[in-house]
Amino acid sequence: MLGLVLLLVYLTSRAKAAPPFQVKIGVSLEGVDPRLGLDTIARVWYETTGERPVFTSSTDDAPGRVNTSLHPSGLAVDIRSVGVTQIQVSTFRSKLVALSSYYQVIPETDHIHVELDLPEF
Ligand SMILES: [Zn+2]
Repeated sequence: MLGLVLLLVYLTSRAKAAPPFQVKIGVSLEGVDPRLGLDTIARVWYETTGERPVFTSSTDDAPGRVNTSLHPSGLAVDIRSVGVTQIQVSTFRSKLVALSSYYQVIPETDHIHVELDLPEF
């Protein structure tokens, strides 16, 4: 009986835990390189802005994407940036780069491009 109660408490607490990020409808996270650290990026974004990030692009094809883009290899993600201040973007960048100097944070018109630009060996 106690086991059943504990199981229900466990399941209830899990159900209430919001996922660390949202994904724009139609965008797939399939093929994202685990080294990119989506959960880490999401956590730092949340700590900085108070909002869960919305990933608007990852490995999916996008018009105007340059040949050298790290999106197809799963090492880049875009985050919706509507309502985010320049100071927040700057803080977000500082926190990520403190975790890995290979992170690059590039503000675009309506999103922030985040990539992990690993050296080639
Ligand atoms: Zn991008």
